[in-house]
Amino acid sequence: MIENGKVVSLSYALKNSQGEILDQSDSRDPLVYLHGGHQIVTGLETALEGLKIGEKKNVVVAPADGYGEKNDSLCLTVKKAQFPANVQLEPGMQFQAHAPDGSGVVFTIEKVEGDNVHINGNHPLAGQTLHFDIEVLDIRDASEEERSHGHAHGPDGHHHH
Ligand code: ZN
Repeated sequence: MIENGKVVSLSYALKNSQGEILDQSDSRDPLVYLHGGHQIVTGLETALEGLKIGEKKNVVVAPADGYGEKNDSLCLTVKKAQFPANVQLEPGMQFQAHAPDGSGVVFTIEKVEGDNVHINGNHPLAGQTLHFDIEVLDIRDASEEERSHGHAHGPDGHHHH
């Protein structure tokens, strides 16, 4: 049964509210995580508690229990001159920077317009309701090493990282 300290293998499909598949993983390449280690979004981790091998579940996760609400203060316009001159700025490029509150955030360039660069520091799935179709493939006890690291080391516990 899924509970804290277990390493869980899942197959899953993640869809948005329009039913489009955003991400998926099957039995050949399962998602492996340590339950209670906050490796997956809170809403999904909570919903998986108590499930057994072979069980399937449809889980709907609200933004607050997923990747958070969209934060407009992380949508910024900055000057091209703030970037290194040798970098070709293009939509979709990502870089690490400090948010107004000082925390480290990954920003994505949305648009380059004259001297201005529009950047967005929200997670791409922020503000979205997440729909997971999951199947529990395997449950095992976490090794001592996995417990101390706070994450799973692959399906058999020997994955190097
Ligand atoms: Zn580790």
